[in-house]
Amino acid sequence: MLSASARVFVRRAVGTSHGHGSLRSSSSRLFSTASSSAGFDSYDDDSVTLTSLNSMFNPTEEHKALRSMLQTFVEREVEPQALEFNKKEIFNVDLFRKLGDSGMGILGLTVDPEYGGAGMDAAAVCVVHEELSYSDPAFCLSYLAHSLLLVNNLSTNGSHEQKQQFLPDICSGAKIGGMCMSEPNAGTDVLGMKSNAKYDAEKKGFILNGTKMWITNGTLTNDNDGSTGDCFLVYARTGEKKSDVTQFVVEKGMEGFSCGQKINDKLGMRASNTAELVFDNVFIPADTHVVGEVNGATLCMMRNLEIERLGLAAMALGIARRSLDEMKGYAGERSAFGASNLYQFGQVQKHIAESYAEYMAGRCYVYGVANSLDLSTYGNGLDADGTKLYCAQMSKNVADRAIQVMGGYGYVGEYVVERLWRDAKLLEIGGGTNESHHKNMCRDLRRMGRTPLD
Ligand SMILES: Cc1cc2nc3c(=O)[nH]c(=O)nc-3n(C[C@H](O)[C@H](O)[C@H](O)COP(=O)(O)OP(=O)(O)OC[C@H]3O[C@@H](n4cnc5c(N)ncnc54)[C@H](O)[C@@H]3O)c2cc1C
Repeated sequence: MLSASARVFVRRAVGTSHGHGSLRSSSSRLFSTASSSAGFDSYDDDSVTLTSLNSMFNPTEEHKALRSMLQTFVEREVEPQALEFNKKEIFNVDLFRKLGDSGMGILGLTVDPEYGGAGMDAAAVCVVHEELSYSDPAFCLSYLAHSLLLVNNLSTNGSHEQKQQFLPDICSGAKIGGMCMSEPNAGTDVLGMKSNAKYDAEKKGFILNGTKMWITNGTLTNDNDGSTGDCFLVYARTGEKKSDVTQFVVEKGMEGFSCGQKINDKLGMRASNTAELVFDNVFIPADTHVVGEVNGATLCMMRNLEIERLGLAAMALGIARRSLDEMKGYAGERSAFGASNLYQFGQVQKHIAESYAEYMAGRCYVYGVANSLDLSTYGNGLDADGTKLYCAQMSKNVADRAIQVMGGYGYVGEYVVERLWRDAKLLEIGGGTNESHHKNMCRDLRRMGRTPLD
């Protein structure tokens, strides 16, 4: 017998016919609940047993309920808009706000309920990122920038007063923002940043100058009107040493804070806004807007990068699972050379079977790490890097195989997988390039000596 979760998995992976040579009218066929399809009607319920790893991927009933709630939301609200908003490069602000108090209540997923959050853990972070990315990784990237780079960071590193002041509005969705680390001339070499903040004793605050690049949610409009997102955590130099970096809250409307440009025509993640932000003598009140210790932000940065990388790895899982479902559906429906489906061909079997095995390997790695990750501490850098390094490449490879299995259809936007392939590429760059993971991991592995067995 199939386990309940396996039945859900199979039931969701149903499709419509690809046999007519015409493009389908809806991109959401995988969300159909029809009981049989051309792709899967020969499927024998008793012939397959999936290893039950449900307790790893949904460690508690709460995680299971969260995943189920997300799947419903994604099917009803995210999937119908994904193709159009990505094609037009528009961030769906209205839908995003539904992730807050007016709907899902997950914008402050990891935040203590005292400050308007849901008080959940790293496994919950992975559940949400996997499910949103099953349909729209770009929308999920905006969610990640807001809920992890801004919200989780402030919740972990801010004072009680700062949490009271800033978190309720950003957890509810009244305000949308992100985090500013990268600069036009400093990305991987993040401590090479040039943005700086000088303390003004008379004014009791810092004067911030510099330019930040590639900032997700940096602007919320498409008008290139100079308007910024609502609230950001910004890293800037505040001392002589390379590590003398401090983190500040910068809010929309502060004098001297503007959007330099919205970055258009990205390869993927097109429904997520990316912008250059400019800080021109922005005054930052020292008593309220400095997060953590002055010159102490490298620790905040490293600690938050762990959950960021795990979130990005979970996004890769969503991309891989959707790609797998799409190629399975197509292979089951497409007839060729007298065979009623493509499953008859060994080369197609290889694409599908290897994709599934790699997806499951990545999934076990991600949830294995997430289930033991304590968000209030740090020290999981090796595996945060490792999960992202493995899953980003895995998801791009699986999406690539899906395009291959689906032939010309796979090459067209309506069939989703070409978008997933383009989105997957970002995961090899954003939040740390593959090469930066190689570097970090080898540093840690070398220090560790013999690799421990437990
Ligand atoms: C869509 C998108 C959204 C983003 N969102 C944000 C955001 O919200 N906030 C934010 O702060 N940043 C954001 N980023 C920036 C992202 O984190 C950086 O692009 C990334 O860190 C790489 O930096 P870089 O682009 O400057 O490349 P570089 O650092 O210039 O790297 C170029 C190449 O050199 C390699 N390289 C560099 N140093 C080494 C080394 N020591 N050893 C080996 N190879 C090396 C890199 O691996 C890469 O292949 C975003 C980027 C994109 C594209």
